[in-house]
Amino acid sequence: MLIRNTIGNRLIAAIAFMSFLTISVSIIAVINWNTLDTQIKAIVDKNLPALWTSYRLERNTAGLQASLNALSNNQDPVHHNKLKQEISEKLERISTAINETADLDHYQAIKAEHETLLGDIAVYTDLLYERNAHRYAVSQTEKTLKWLHKDLVDELAPLRQEVEWQLTSVVPNALGPEAIRETMTEFSYIQSITVKESELFLLVQEIMQQRHTLDLGQAFYYIGNKVKEINAISQNLDHYTATTAYHQLLKEIITLVAPAGVLETQLRQDIELHTNIARYQERIQTRLSSQEDLIQQMVEQENHDLHQLNEQAHRTITISNLILFGTMLLSVCLSVILSIHLVGRGIVKRLNLLSQDLYAVANGQLDTQVQVSGKDEIGMLGDNLRLFCHQMQQMQQSNALNLINNTQASIITCNLQGLVESVNPSAQLLFHYNNTSTQQTLWSLFSDSMQQRLQTLFALGSPLLNNGACSLTLKHDHHSGKMLYLRLDFRLFRQGNSDKVIITMTDITEQENAARWLENMVRDKTQSLLNRNRQLNAEIDDRKRIEADLRATQDELIQAAKMAVVGQTMTSLAHELNQPLSAISTHVFATRVALEKGRSEQLPVSLDKIDSLTSRMGRIIASLRNFAKKQSANSPLVPVNLQDALQQAMLIVESRAKVQKTAIVSELDPHLMVLADQVQLEQVLVNLLVNSCDAVAAGAERTITVCTLPNQGRQLRLAVSDSGSGFNAEIIEQLFVPFTTTKDVGLGLGLSICRSILDRLEGDIYLASNLHGGALVVLELNCYDD
Ligand code: ADP
Repeated sequence: MLIRNTIGNRLIAAIAFMSFLTISVSIIAVINWNTLDTQIKAIVDKNLPALWTSYRLERNTAGLQASLNALSNNQDPVHHNKLKQEISEKLERISTAINETADLDHYQAIKAEHETLLGDIAVYTDLLYERNAHRYAVSQTEKTLKWLHKDLVDELAPLRQEVEWQLTSVVPNALGPEAIRETMTEFSYIQSITVKESELFLLVQEIMQQRHTLDLGQAFYYIGNKVKEINAISQNLDHYTATTAYHQLLKEIITLVAPAGVLETQLRQDIELHTNIARYQERIQTRLSSQEDLIQQMVEQENHDLHQLNEQAHRTITISNLILFGTMLLSVCLSVILSIHLVGRGIVKRLNLLSQDLYAVANGQLDTQVQVSGKDEIGMLGDNLRLFCHQMQQMQQSNALNLINNTQASIITCNLQGLVESVNPSAQLLFHYNNTSTQQTLWSLFSDSMQQRLQTLFALGSPLLNNGACSLTLKHDHHSGKMLYLRLDFRLFRQGNSDKVIITMTDITEQENAARWLENMVRDKTQSLLNRNRQLNAEIDDRKRIEADLRATQDELIQAAKMAVVGQTMTSLAHELNQPLSAISTHVFATRVALEKGRSEQLPVSLDKIDSLTSRMGRIIASLRNFAKKQSANSPLVPVNLQDALQQAMLIVESRAKVQKTAIVSELDPHLMVLADQVQLEQVLVNLLVNSCDAVAAGAERTITVCTLPNQGRQLRLAVSDSGSGFNAEIIEQLFVPFTTTKDVGLGLGLSICRSILDRLEGDIYLASNLHGGALVVLELNCYDD
């Protein structure tokens, strides 16, 4: 079966190979670990016990050696058994340790050596026991000897005393010379024996101490000679009865020390035992050192085995590490190759290319050259995309042709030089186009007057070539004789590798005619509208002029109203001015009299009073002149202190108020500022105060109050109220209509002028009544806030 070179197959092969590598690595690791396990087991089961046993053998052998030494030095039979017990325990431990090495090569040799050692030690311990028993017997003999020697020496003293007594003390001169000689001889024998016995005792002691180094036969030969000498001398004393005990003691000594006697027998046995013990000691030492050598060999053997095992393990680990490292390197290389070659170049790069191609196709570029090829899945996708593009192109071409041929619109295609390439049936009918005729230009289908415009469209830098589209409306003489208006839509399109122009022609004759009719209508309408506009402008100018006249008239009216107020207040003003004038004349007269009488100290007081009266008059006149000044209604609004404006107004009204005994009370905050025109605001306040004066004139209580009400937003509300009878309810609605008055001499302009002034000040005026029934006029003014 043919295996295709697809990405899937390649990926499966790669994964299979990687799996094979992973399994190989795992098998190598398992083998390696098993080998190591076996080696560690061998170490644990064989080498370590061998080393441990050798250690125990070494330790117990050293202990055994020490115990044997202790046993050898010991002479106490009770302690001997204890030491023997210790030795047998140690031997038991050594036997156990040896039995644990039954698997090892040196086991038989060590075991045989140990068995021999056991026998030797058993004999050795028995010999030591026997030696100790003998030594005890020898020491008893030595003690007996010492005791006999001492008794012998002690026995000499009474003998010596007896001889001395016989010679000196018994009976003077009782003994004859013979008897004296006899006694002296006896005494000298005793002396000789004593000396000889002492020599014998010393000799015996020396022999006993040096018995292991001396020739015992020779030594007892000397002792035999000494005994003979003593026996020879002692025979001379046989007939001396006093020496019987002495004799007996000497006999006992001689019996003990004589050759082949008790002492020699004991010493000979002791020497024999000593020799046997030394021999066994040597044998035991030889056995022990031989056993140690064997243990040493066993340890070296195990050590050697351990080293070999270690080297083998090291070799195994190194080889398996190399194999693992090699396999890992191979895996990494394969991964890199797979990543770069299969995933990077084979899949990702080609998928990117395929994605670019798909994007281009999705954006309508059906002529895109699909860059991906191959026999795998991506290659098949590329082939399918290529086939899809091809089919789509064919479909589009057939669709476009169908569209061009079946559409009602007239369509012509031509190249960039204007040469006609295709004409649809509708266009053929329109232009009476002959399909068989030689290739002609687009403009040749139109009348001469249109040809120039068409040609310019195909020139370099034309809107069609620059923008890729344009449209044009042309006149066309139809072969039927009718004049047609055609709308031509030019559009560039790409066919294969060259640019073409498609021209869609729409007959817009009817729309064109309608548009032309509409155009004429619009032109006519525009003309009439222009005329009407001109008339309106003239009317506006007239109105502006009239308005200016009206303003002038209003200003005149305001001025007239002002003058009326001035007129009204003139009488009281004259009275007001007359008073200070008469006061001045009085002060002037007083001054003159003072001057004549030489009372010059009164002059400054009188002159000060005259000065204050003239300045008051000046203020009244200035305020009146200011009030009466003609003011343009269009002066700009400025910050005005409300208190100042009220003070000025009060200066004008004050004289009148005084005359009719009316109190004008101001409750204003001196810092209140409003946006207004000072003179116009003063006029409003004068009007209101004059009206209030008129209203309270007839009443019993005459008070006018000026105060502020709570603000409404940025609007300050100023209230002028009086104690009069209030507004007449019948005409309150018309009070702002000019010439509405209830007064005999009134003009009826005051309130209407106040309203028009407040309109200019962008404020307002309201009429109301206060709690006492008097009039309340509220002015709304714009606050000035710096
Ligand atoms: P004139 O004062 O010339 O009559 P105004 O326009 O100032 O003209 O006033 C119109 C009328 O409003 C007055 O005739 C008067 O009847 C009434 N009026 C104005 N102020 C008051 C007031 N404070 N108390 C009562 N009535 C008043």
